[in-house]
Amino acid sequence: MAINPKKTPMPTQDPIERGRNFNEVAIGYTVEMALGEAERCLNCKNKPCVSGCPVNIDIPSFISKIKESDFEGAYQVISKYSSLPAVCGRVCPQESQCESKCTLGIKFEPVGIGRLERFVADYHNANATEKPVKPTPNGHKVAVVGSGPSGLTCAGDLAKKGYAVTVFEALHTAGGVLVYGIPEFRLPKSIVAKEVQTLNDLGVEVKTNVVIGKTLTVDELFEDGYEAVFIGSGAGLPNFMNIPGESLKGVYSANEFLTRSNLMKAYREKSDTPIMKGGKVAIVSGGNVAMDAARTALRLVAEKVYIVYRRYMTELPARKEEVEHAEEEGIDFKLLCNPIEILGYDNPDDKRDPKNGTVVGIKCIKMELGEPDERGRRSPVPVEGSEFVLDVDAVVMSIGTSPNPLIKSTVDGLEVNRKGCIIVNEDGLTSREGIYAGGDAVTGASTVISAMGAGKVAAKAIDDYIMNK
Ligand SMILES: Cc1cc2nc3c(=O)[nH]c(=O)nc-3n(C[C@H](O)[C@H](O)[C@H](O)COP(=O)(O)OP(=O)(O)OC[C@H]3O[C@@H](n4cnc5c(N)ncnc54)[C@H](O)[C@@H]3O)c2cc1C
Repeated sequence: MAINPKKTPMPTQDPIERGRNFNEVAIGYTVEMALGEAERCLNCKNKPCVSGCPVNIDIPSFISKIKESDFEGAYQVISKYSSLPAVCGRVCPQESQCESKCTLGIKFEPVGIGRLERFVADYHNANATEKPVKPTPNGHKVAVVGSGPSGLTCAGDLAKKGYAVTVFEALHTAGGVLVYGIPEFRLPKSIVAKEVQTLNDLGVEVKTNVVIGKTLTVDELFEDGYEAVFIGSGAGLPNFMNIPGESLKGVYSANEFLTRSNLMKAYREKSDTPIMKGGKVAIVSGGNVAMDAARTALRLVAEKVYIVYRRYMTELPARKEEVEHAEEEGIDFKLLCNPIEILGYDNPDDKRDPKNGTVVGIKCIKMELGEPDERGRRSPVPVEGSEFVLDVDAVVMSIGTSPNPLIKSTVDGLEVNRKGCIIVNEDGLTSREGIYAGGDAVTGASTVISAMGAGKVAAKAIDDYIMNK
């Protein structure tokens, strides 16, 4: 049978309709679609796709199980390597990881590995009734700081070996960026809650509303009998541009904007969480986080949403799929322009005017691409005299994040680099004995799967450390 050169398309909600609701955009494969897509896999002997996966899932094996209609068997293969398959099937940048190595991709579109992973995980979640078997306790205790993908993976791998693992989370819900950052329409909270429940069933205890460095210190965790600590505290501290007007009312960091919508439920019609609702919004920058903020603003009934980005469309750092979805939904991309000031309403005659100090516009300057830098990438330079104003009621800054310095400031001898990222060796060990770290706290803002990979490496190293102590 001839191979279909194209991936089986992912069914999605209608773009106009979905721009006004928070339901999941991608609907997921049917059984027929999954079987059709699985048939495209060549089952290569050397499995290049596996090397493209930071947790090395045996991709051809799980796809072979799909071909046999053994969907639960496929899930069992994936879950040997990943504790968050329903999450990864939705948000991993497969096009630059496993799918970029797919042999079929040399001539045709690669196999839709992410879409198949999502199908398998959703099938399991809908049909499996058995809880995972709790491993026999080995009598050792490990603490994990942060319940994002790195912390959850580390916790899961250690729990499977019999460790008593406690995850300490600063927020009131477990999941890290998966719940406070990534919007419901890309990753439903119920999916993350289900994956966390699976870890709970394995014996992982999650203590929310505990800020390590304030409520308890890392040293106090050791005093409480934890033999090792994994720090997976992420990179949640937002960066700003330091341009005039950034302290006006109506200027948000993307993290704050998304947290208000996601975790503080501002997206619910009757929510009293303060957030922009209606009006025009400018989102600064063009990464995945910016796409999430733009599409969230649209769903919060913004009249108009702009992405302000200083390079060309082809250089947008966001995933192609996310950019396409944003375009389909009507987000207006203002390319080759950069903000230089945020303008505020100012009524000098009436200081009690509630509109005083609120955003009314964003002043930008047009950019052109100048000489190539040392990496051969042409840098954007401002075009003199090309300033213009976009009338907006809110501005969301999405120009990156850094690790929060709280942990570093409360752990003696913990070395960080000049960006505040924790320094670790190849096993995830920090400069302090017994303290391991991974994920965005080590790399700076990265991806879910690389955070999971780091959690896995550290879990193995923690096991070796405790067993050989
Ligand atoms: C809006 C947004 C969209 C994204 N979309 C994608 C995507 O589509 N695909 C992708 O692969 N990646 C995406 N990413 C990146 C990805 O989510 C992160 O790389 C990943 O979540 C990092 O995992 P982590 O475990 O290191 O940290 P996090 O997920 O940040 O989790 C860290 C956790 O630690 C907690 N914490 C921090 N300090 C303390 C403390 N002192 N005490 C206790 N708890 C603490 C935090 O509250 C948080 O829950 C996105 C990021 C954002 C912000």
